[in-house]
Amino acid sequence: MSDAASRSPELSDHMAGPYWKLRPAPPTPKDELCGGATIEAITLRDSLGPNCVYCLRCNGEVAPERIGFGHAIAEDMARWRFVYRGLHSLWLDSTEYEQWALERLLDPDGAVNITGRKVVARLNEYVRSYYWWSMHNDPLMDDAPPATCPYCNGSLAPAGRRGLQKCELCSVVVAWNDF
Ligand SMILES: [Zn+2]
Ligand SMILES: [Zn+2]
Repeated sequence: MSDAASRSPELSDHMAGPYWKLRPAPPTPKDELCGGATIEAITLRDSLGPNCVYCLRCNGEVAPERIGFGHAIAEDMARWRFVYRGLHSLWLDSTEYEQWALERLLDPDGAVNITGRKVVARLNEYVRSYYWWSMHNDPLMDDAPPATCPYCNGSLAPAGRRGLQKCELCSVVVAWNDF
């Protein structure tokens, strides 16, 4: 928390006093937005904020209007985020539902992942888009990063940043040790 506060004056102000977590979040700080002049590829991921569109290259948040997708996609994206966030929160809370939530998040054929990949398929009509497949520190995976795509079982290619690999065929970015 102190790292985030020292990074951004807006965040520092927002986090003053005991009640900041009970207030609406401020806009994303500028240094967490993608500053690229063009967006080459995006990922659909839940990072616990309202927006779930991120730049593949820099991992900065991408304002939806920079992509310009339509209302129906925005609605479906918000619905996906609502459900994914539910599972993500249950996993983060680390109590009796942690393992259950992890299994839902890591089930390639689970409803939340089917919905997310449908959204990604439609986003691909606008810009190269990938579904963010977080391993969530899967205890079954030991210390070895995944070698194959969770969908086609084909080999993964480097995705440009450390810890990221991708499957072009399935439009999936696999993130190792990254929530
Ligand atoms: Zn970027
Ligand atoms: Zn694949």
